[in-house]
Amino acid sequence: MKGMMMHRPLLIADILTYAAEVYPDAEIVSVRTEGDVHRTTYAQTLRRVGKLAHALKGLGIGTGDRVATLAWNGYRHFELYYAISGIGAVCHTINPRLSPEQMSYIVGHAGDRVLFLDTTFVPLIEKIRGLLPDDLQLVVMTDRAHMPESGLPLLCYEDLLGDHPESYDWPDLDENDAGSLCYTSGTTGNPKGALYSHRSTVLHSMMVALSLPAALQEGKRILPVVPLFHVNAWGLPYAAPLTGASLVFPGPALDGDSLFKLMEGEQVFSAWGVPTVWQGLLGTIRKEGRAPNGFGDVVIGGSAAPSSMIRAFEDMGINVCHAWGMTEMSPVGTQGNLPARMAGAGADAKLAVKSKQGRRIFGCELKIVDDAGNRLPHDGEAAGELFVRGNTIISGYFGNDEATQKAMDAEGWFGTGDVASIDRDGFLVIRDRTKDLIKSGGEWISSLDLENVVMAHPDVASCAVIALPHPKWDERPLLVVVPAEGKTPDFEDIKTKLSEHFAKWQLPDDMVVVEDLPLTATGKVSKLTLRERFADHVLPDA
Ligand code: ADP
Repeated sequence: MKGMMMHRPLLIADILTYAAEVYPDAEIVSVRTEGDVHRTTYAQTLRRVGKLAHALKGLGIGTGDRVATLAWNGYRHFELYYAISGIGAVCHTINPRLSPEQMSYIVGHAGDRVLFLDTTFVPLIEKIRGLLPDDLQLVVMTDRAHMPESGLPLLCYEDLLGDHPESYDWPDLDENDAGSLCYTSGTTGNPKGALYSHRSTVLHSMMVALSLPAALQEGKRILPVVPLFHVNAWGLPYAAPLTGASLVFPGPALDGDSLFKLMEGEQVFSAWGVPTVWQGLLGTIRKEGRAPNGFGDVVIGGSAAPSSMIRAFEDMGINVCHAWGMTEMSPVGTQGNLPARMAGAGADAKLAVKSKQGRRIFGCELKIVDDAGNRLPHDGEAAGELFVRGNTIISGYFGNDEATQKAMDAEGWFGTGDVASIDRDGFLVIRDRTKDLIKSGGEWISSLDLENVVMAHPDVASCAVIALPHPKWDERPLLVVVPAEGKTPDFEDIKTKLSEHFAKWQLPDDMVVVEDLPLTATGKVSKLTLRERFADHVLPDA
């Protein structure tokens, strides 16, 4: 017997329509590339999104067409999210930190018809115009007064909106239609596309709202430092309007001082981003001797949050939620809130749990398997490749059968490429990426575990552990450190600290000191670049 309930499609446009009706005054505040701070509300935004939808139609954009963006976090980018998906087209966000080759590859692969770009990126596009399709239309996201001089035929965003009507009759799309497209950063090989549907996007925003209720509620102000060009800023542009939370968009300046000033000025309660960003903010917090006023919650993901970072925030009374996910998962897979029974636990016990990658959110199933694909127990000990399944996880890569076949297992689960264990309470612990694991004499060493301990050393600002080839052991760990200001880290001293947690054979064989660590397009330490840079480094007993 079937249930007798209506079936209405889950559509992206409905999120903003709902917010405009129920939370009309919740704000979107943006630091603009024009240099000022701009304020609007969900109600006003819906009206501009209506105009933009008409303008897109005017550019000849129809159902299923791909429309690209190359832009920082700001209200115009947010408007594009809703207008493009709303008319049934696909919003393809491009990471500006990709190489020109990768950028032209994905514009071609996606088949983008129009590219919307911030003024900041006009010089970049001028440089690579020859690599892009001839018929790609370019729209600069500013008003007439701020249009840059250029030899390229550039359209102006505000002119385009012009006097189009504010209301738009949003079509009843199929909820399985594609709404947005995001390519992985492609640290190895060409970037691969995750093509999200309206349904997966709406479900993901509800899942995120349900899992992070402290930040996502009416009256709270959230700062997505995580870019709109990286996995839909972890779903915040959808989850915030859904719950009535306000958004504060930081624009291009993401250094500690700029973030501190913005957070304090805008009374940001919750801020979301990768660990490298929080390192900058913590630097400013130390300099100021206090946290920004009103700051109470930070969501850290994208790479492992070092325990020392979690402790630094928690010691100031700022709640840390350590989350894990990936582009292919929309991206959130876990949330690191403490189990209720731990409310009265000591700081160290809480820290140990917060350093793990959290428990799965509803709708995202996890399994860990051995090399033969057999399931491993969730006992906190067994570690294997992590596979995921759910409504917000890709069923394949866009236009890439080869990568799809590699990623999916026979039962239809997606292989994350992470090695993990899961404890009896359901907490995930990411041990490493399979490609970053150090395989020494048939055993493996987790680079993440080593880094976590080294990061807590007072003489270390940041670090990475990479595998170097070794004639006897296959691979051995090399520690790469960036010293804390005015400090000279001592390798023997660091090894003594590490010995408290690791067996002797797991300790790094050598240490090199560098000024800074290379980052990927998504702000994570690029171990690939480090492995290349130190390929000729000879370990002491190699
Ligand atoms: P890319 O960086 O390749 O663009 P993603 O941003 O999708 O791709 O990165 C996903 C990967 O980032 C995960 O597979 C995992 O290895 C790593 N990651 C994300 N969050 C965490 C976390 N909290 N702890 C450890 N690793 C993480």
